[in-house]
Amino acid sequence: MNTSKNPIRVRFAPSPTGYLHVGGARTALYNYLFAKANGGTFYLRVEDTDRKRFNEDALRDLFRDLRWLGLDWDEGAEQGGELGPYYQSERLNIYAEEVKRLLEDDKAYHCFCSEERLAEVRAAQEKSGQAVTGYDRHCRNISLSEAQQRLENGEKSVVRLKVPLDGTTVFHDQIRGEIVYQNTVLDDLVILKRDKFPTYHLASVVDDYYMQTSHVMRGDEWISSTPKHVLLYDALGWEAPIFCHLPVILAAGGGKLSKRHGAASVGDFRDLGYLPETLVNFLALLGWNPGDEREVMSKEELIECFSIDRISPTSAAFDEKKLLWMNGQHIRLSDDSLLLEKLKEDLPEIVPEESLEGVSNAKLLHIVQVLKSRINFLNDLAPMAAYFFVAPQEYDEKAAKRAFREGSLEVSELIINALEELDSFETEVVEGAFKKVCETHNRKLGQLVHPIRVAVSGTGVGPGLFELLSLVGQKEVIARIKKAQPLMQ
Ligand code: GLU
Repeated sequence: MNTSKNPIRVRFAPSPTGYLHVGGARTALYNYLFAKANGGTFYLRVEDTDRKRFNEDALRDLFRDLRWLGLDWDEGAEQGGELGPYYQSERLNIYAEEVKRLLEDDKAYHCFCSEERLAEVRAAQEKSGQAVTGYDRHCRNISLSEAQQRLENGEKSVVRLKVPLDGTTVFHDQIRGEIVYQNTVLDDLVILKRDKFPTYHLASVVDDYYMQTSHVMRGDEWISSTPKHVLLYDALGWEAPIFCHLPVILAAGGGKLSKRHGAASVGDFRDLGYLPETLVNFLALLGWNPGDEREVMSKEELIECFSIDRISPTSAAFDEKKLLWMNGQHIRLSDDSLLLEKLKEDLPEIVPEESLEGVSNAKLLHIVQVLKSRINFLNDLAPMAAYFFVAPQEYDEKAAKRAFREGSLEVSELIINALEELDSFETEVVEGAFKKVCETHNRKLGQLVHPIRVAVSGTGVGPGLFELLSLVGQKEVIARIKKAQPLMQ
């Protein structure tokens, strides 16, 4: 629902200082979904005013990760658009203009306090045992003309906003409702730094205004910045956008999800073999729900029902088990051709080249179809498919112990004889042969299936046995059973 009277324009505004954390990815995703659900615009703004922490590689990875997730932006860095530039470092003149206006309107002032003085003020506040209220407004009454004189004399300043000395700053958060801050707890925030770069607060407000942002949707670690932004909008004479602060993501055991919990960035999860569809689906449900029981959803389905109303104000727990399960679900939904490509790419690394000679696409596709429902990661595909091409080098110890028990040798002999007679090795034909052995020799199917499965595949689990045997082929199946016979009793 668009409760703004303006067209929907939302943004993802990362500071390229490190990897794209799942929290950041979720922020980008919610903005993307909200824009797409409402025919709005999703734009990407690079907040690179902190030059000390700026990291070129992080920026490149960020673009890559967002694109990998399929969160393409309509406007912004690398994409262009009418309201750019979209790099804050290229907008310094715009910020300077607004600061000039604030100074002239007496809404801001130059502060000449040294770092040492600020540290002393802070230390004294801490020592007094009273609340640390920040800057003591020492320079608040220096007139603009006096300040200009001091600047001409070579002094250096920062520019601070004149925050009202009393009263409250109130804003409505679309997820959390009304939020009230006492102005006495907000100090006169710096808006322009000594190096003439804007602070995050100023740049964010100026850009959100000029880039016509209708909704600011961001992580709730920014909520304490919002009253400052609201005061800045007021001082600049602008209407503030709608604010939505997204609930924090907690690690399964509690605490904010971070690198020390293992994987925490989009890149980590990609390297582990998760599909982008999985991550998008999973992140969408971290703090939002579709209003029904659905869990496995495509991006298109998410777009169809995404709305801010169902974003929860309470924290969301990152459940890796669910993520794993979801990846399996998305593998089942993905196109066979994607899995086929992956199999073709990975197999040569796992099995000798000669065993792949003359293998048809149809056979590979069949293997994909047989294994698709059994894997949670694409990387599991080739290792699981290996026994279709090469005989197992060893047998799973537990499975072999259970399968190669007394009577298995005799059964294997009966099966070899039955299989040798077959003219076709289609799944149903193989199945028929097994059933016939059961009837003729009064055996249960289980007595036959287990030793043969372990002999042919080396493991006790896998796809339907008859299909498996058919894919391995008559000659090879018989050879593998014979090879395992010395282990049977
Ligand atoms: N640059 C901030 C960040 O890195 C953006 C915060 C905001 O969305 O206003 O998350």
